[in-house]
Amino acid sequence: MAIIPLDCLECGTQYTYIGVGPHSAECPDCESTCVSPVGELRIIDQDYWSVPNGTGEVQISAVDEHDRSFEFRIGIQKHKGTLTTITIGGTSILAKQCSVAWPITDLFNELLARYGITELINPMHSSNTTTQNQ
Ligand SMILES: [Zn+2]
Repeated sequence: MAIIPLDCLECGTQYTYIGVGPHSAECPDCESTCVSPVGELRIIDQDYWSVPNGTGEVQISAVDEHDRSFEFRIGIQKHKGTLTTITIGGTSILAKQCSVAWPITDLFNELLARYGITELINPMHSSNTTTQNQ
């Protein structure tokens, strides 16, 4: 039996899932499907483009332990990235409109460093969390 803390990006409700089967991946309050991944997020694909002035975008596709898809878009400007949009199972939410913040910077730092991005701004929960990775 696993006790998994989950939170909802849309309304900020935090709840726990206790059980052995897959959780329903739905917020009990607002029925949004934009809830936490179960277990570890696994990055399965990434896409990167930029134009000569240093502006571009990184798109990261990941799945959780129940194969639910998570897609993160990160707008980049030279060495700085800003999380813009999270798409979960086909539903998109703007990072700055999220009611809760996920600690995604650790997950993406290494991948972003490959593209020369050393700073990731995560505007989730309006916390303006900035990590320096130098
Ligand atoms: Zn909710």
